[in-house]
Amino acid sequence: MGLSKTIWTNPTEFLKTQQPDNPVLFFAPSAAQAAARRFIDGFPGLVTYAVKSNPGEAMVENLAAAGIRGYDCASPFEIDLIRRLAPDAAIHYNNPVRARHEIAHAVARGVKSYSVDSKSELQKLIEMVPASGTEISVRFKLPVAGAAYNFGAKFGATVDLAVELLKRVAAAGYIPSITFHPGTQCTDPHAWEAYIREAANITKAAGVRIARLNVGGGFPSHRMAAIVPQIEDTFTLIDRVATEAFGADRPELVCEPGRALCGDAYALAARVKALRDDTHVFLNDGVYGSLTELPMIGVIDRIEVLSPQGQKRLGDELPRIIFGPTCDSVDRLPGDIPLPGDLAEGDYVIWQGMGSYSTVTNTRFNGFGDVQIATVLTLKL
Ligand SMILES: *Cc1c(COP(=O)(O)O)cnc(C)c1O
Repeated sequence: MGLSKTIWTNPTEFLKTQQPDNPVLFFAPSAAQAAARRFIDGFPGLVTYAVKSNPGEAMVENLAAAGIRGYDCASPFEIDLIRRLAPDAAIHYNNPVRARHEIAHAVARGVKSYSVDSKSELQKLIEMVPASGTEISVRFKLPVAGAAYNFGAKFGATVDLAVELLKRVAAAGYIPSITFHPGTQCTDPHAWEAYIREAANITKAAGVRIARLNVGGGFPSHRMAAIVPQIEDTFTLIDRVATEAFGADRPELVCEPGRALCGDAYALAARVKALRDDTHVFLNDGVYGSLTELPMIGVIDRIEVLSPQGQKRLGDELPRIIFGPTCDSVDRLPGDIPLPGDLAEGDYVIWQGMGSYSTVTNTRFNGFGDVQIATVLTLKL
């Protein structure tokens, strides 16, 4: 009986010794903890984790170990997960539309913070959630650009409605707060500026002093090799604008990043199943598996290719059309993706920055998507 190895040095060591035929997501706990510390050290307020972006237990445990004390949950499942893994943490139930049985579940688990963007959903909360010591944050939206796609399409009250909701929240005896989400992978810090200034206007129009302002998620992860997100600049801007906009009434700040905490803690290795007539690359993972997000928010260009022996392919790049393994023609990565010209069948294509919206959105369509997770000390090849 031998001990099987559970922590690998890096993806290269795993790939060349294991030769996996199914996709592998490599998880580096050190990268997750470093991302958490970067937020805790830099953000001028409470850092919470948006669980939906990667609810993996190892992910949550590492964030908790690094000091994350609050979690943004969207469902009873996520609430129970956090109660089990981080029993003392604060839970913010920030999915603004909930069935009554979901609200009852949250109340029974002691959840004390909710968001809302409509009168009908606020009415449900008023009927079901005891007001004392409970925060309700009004979520609003603005037509601002900067993110990879528009989050305001589904959630968020208009400014006028937000004023009305904030008044009702305060009148019903809840702790009034405001929240927004500028949109995911938001690379323009000024999106936060516009939202924070408008939040201050909403409080003035409502005549309500808010306890907290939750500036949402949307902080970018590192997708493009040439663009390293400068998250600290966004923290500085949020801090300055909050003081300018609210003055003596400045609320406590909260953020709820998902992608920026988990994205850079994982790399994906997908194997080349076929190089069809030297033009089309067929991988064992695609848009129905770990690469679901690429057609929606753009390709990650931090890609390297390893031979089965673990050698980096360094040939001049050729633009390739990349297909996933299913029989659906939608299962194609967007555009032409440059890959080394010496790429061959059996190679591994490795994407950095694959920790967010990848493990959770895998569909298993067509019988593919049996993705393994391997823990590594570092994601560097
Ligand atoms: C998805 C979501 C987040 C996290 O967004 P990221 O872009 O991953 O940071 C935060 N808050 C709410 C309410 C969300 O729905």
